[in-house]
Amino acid sequence: MACAWLRFKCSGVRFFLTIRRTRDSFLPMALIPEETIERIKAATDIVELVAEHVQMRHAGRNWLGLCPFHNEKTPSFNVNPELQIYHCFGCGVGGDVVKFLQEIDKVSFVEAVAFLGERAGIPVPRRDGNAAEDERNDQLFRANELAAKYFHYMLRQPAGADALRYLHQRGMTDEIIDDFRVGYSLPGWSNLLEMAGRRGFSAPVLEQAGLVSQGQKGRSHYDRFRDRVIFPITNLSSRTIGFGARALRPDDQPKYLNSPETPIYHKSDVLYGMSRARDSIRREGTVIVVEGYMDVVSLVQGGVTNVVASSGTAVTAPHARLLARYAERVVLLFDGDAAGGTAAERGVEVLLGTEIDTRIVTLPDGQDPDSYVRRDQGADELRQLIEKAPPALDIYLDRMAAGVDLNSVTGRARAIERLLPLTAECKDEVRRNLMLRRIAQRFDVNENALRTDLAAAQSRPAPRRRGQSAPEVDKETPVSSAPPVQVNKLEREFAGLLLQYPQFLAETARRLEMEVFTDSEVRRLLTYLVEACANGQQLDLSALINDVDEGLSGLATLCAMETFVADNVTEIWEDHVRRLQREALTRQIEGAKREMRRLVESVGPGDELELLQKRHDELIARRVELESGRDGF
Ligand SMILES: [Zn+2]
Repeated sequence: MACAWLRFKCSGVRFFLTIRRTRDSFLPMALIPEETIERIKAATDIVELVAEHVQMRHAGRNWLGLCPFHNEKTPSFNVNPELQIYHCFGCGVGGDVVKFLQEIDKVSFVEAVAFLGERAGIPVPRRDGNAAEDERNDQLFRANELAAKYFHYMLRQPAGADALRYLHQRGMTDEIIDDFRVGYSLPGWSNLLEMAGRRGFSAPVLEQAGLVSQGQKGRSHYDRFRDRVIFPITNLSSRTIGFGARALRPDDQPKYLNSPETPIYHKSDVLYGMSRARDSIRREGTVIVVEGYMDVVSLVQGGVTNVVASSGTAVTAPHARLLARYAERVVLLFDGDAAGGTAAERGVEVLLGTEIDTRIVTLPDGQDPDSYVRRDQGADELRQLIEKAPPALDIYLDRMAAGVDLNSVTGRARAIERLLPLTAECKDEVRRNLMLRRIAQRFDVNENALRTDLAAAQSRPAPRRRGQSAPEVDKETPVSSAPPVQVNKLEREFAGLLLQYPQFLAETARRLEMEVFTDSEVRRLLTYLVEACANGQQLDLSALINDVDEGLSGLATLCAMETFVADNVTEIWEDHVRRLQREALTRQIEGAKREMRRLVESVGPGDELELLQKRHDELIARRVELESGRDGF
C-alpha cells in the first residue's frame, strides 16, 4: 500500500508542475488579498450573475440555458447553485463567478474580482501601488454616476418637459428612456456644479470628470452640458464614464457635445452601447455600427440589439480590436444622405486593414437608422439589409472610383496611390491578395504590377494616417473553439465524486494507483486534488478553477456536475473503486495476453513466457477476488 501511495505521490508532483500555468498568471491574484477574493466570491451568486447574460430555466438541481460561449440551439449550459459553478456540455467550458466574468467580459482576473467586489459592495484593496490613481479614478466614476442620476431625474421634472416631449416625438418609449438612462441637463450655468458640490465633489474634480469647464483666465467653473438631452456612456463594466449630449434647439451649436477625454473616458476605446450589446453581438456573430446615440437607442427599441455607435469619432484601431473580440462581422450602417463622410471613410479604412469581415449598408436617401427602423416592418427590412450587406471593400473601391477619372492614367494612378498603403496595412495575406485583385480589376491595371508597387510601398516606413496607429487586431482564440471534453464516463464520475466528497481523497490515494485512470486529464485533475489534500488544504472548487488551465477547469466543472445520491456516497465510492480496479485489471490481463501471443509466435516456450503466464493467472485471480468482494480491504 505504501508503495502505491508513494507512486501516486511521485507522479503527483510531476503532474502538479504541469497543471499550473505560468507564474505570471498568479501574480495578479497577489494584488488582491486572498480573504477579499473569498468574501467577494461568497457574496456573489452565480445564478444571478449568469442570468444577466443568459436566459435560464430550472432543470433538476441546475439552471439550464443557451451557452453564451458557443452557438447552440439546444441549451447545454448548466449552472449549479450549490457548487456555484457553471459548465457547458456543448463546448466544455466551465468555471465559477470570476471565471465567468473573465470569459464573458474578456477581462483579467483582477478586473473581474474588482468588478464583482464593486457589485457586492465590498471594497477591493489593491497592492499594486496605484492606490492614488485608483482613488482618483474612483472619484471620477462616482462623479459621473451622480451626474447620470441627476440628468435622468431632471428629464421627468417640469423643467425637462420639452426634452421628454422631444424624445417621445422621436418615438422613444418611457421604458427605453429608462433603460438607457437618457437624461436632461438644465439650461443654467451651475445646476450640476452646485448639486454635486453639496455632495462633496469639488469643482476641480468635476472638471477632471469632464462635467464642468473652467472659464477663461481662471474664472469660475460652469456646467459643460446645458439644455441638452443626455446619453450616458458606460464602459464594459457598465460604469458611467462620460456623456453624449444633443442640443434641443436647432440654433444650439454644436448639435452633439461629448465629454472631453478624461482619465476614465478615452473616446477611441469606447463604443456607445457595447456593455449591453455584447451578448447579442456574440450570439449573432455580427455587430452593427451606427453613428449616433439616438440610432442605437431606436434600433434596440426596434428589437435590433447587436448595435453600437462610435461616439463622435470614426472607428479607430482600438475600436476595431474591441469589435473583433465579440464579432466576426462588422456592418457599418450609414445614413442615406451620408455626405460621403470622411469620418466614416476613415472608419472603413481602419477596418479594411484588419481581419474582420467588414460590410456596409447605406440606407435609402433621406433615411437614417432611427427613421428607417421606426417604419412599419422597419426592423425586419433592416435585418434583411444587414444580412445581404455587400463587402466594404467593394463599396469603398466604388467610392474611390467615383472620385477619379478612370479613363485617365493619372486618375487611376492617384486612386491606386491612396489604396496601396491601405492594402499594405492588411496583415492577413489571403485578405491582402484579395484586396489587390479587386483593386486591379476595378481600376483595370495589371495585378502583378500592383504587387510590385505594394512590395515597394511596404519596404518604406509604413505611412500613417492622421492620429492613427496601425490596427493590430489580435483575435483571441474564441472560447467556442475549445473542443468538447471527451473523458471516460466512469473516471469522470469518480473524479466528480471526489470533488464533491473530498473526504474520500486520502483513502482513494491509498487504494488506487494513478495507472487505473486512462484519461490523462482526469489524472491531472485527481493529482491536483490529492496533492491539495496531502498538503492539508481544504478543497476549494472555486480556488481550483481559478488556479488551473482552461482544459482542467472545464473538466473540473464537468465532473462536479455529476449528481450523486447523498445517502449512499460511501457505497458509490466503493463501487467506483472496484470498477476502476477491475477495468485496470482487465486492461492488464489483455496486455499480458497480447504479450504472450507475441512471445509464442516469435520465441516459443521459455522462462519468459512462463513468467508472463504466471502474472496473467495472478491478475485473473485478483479480478475474481475483486468480483467476489474478498479483496481484503
Ligand atoms: Zn458552450
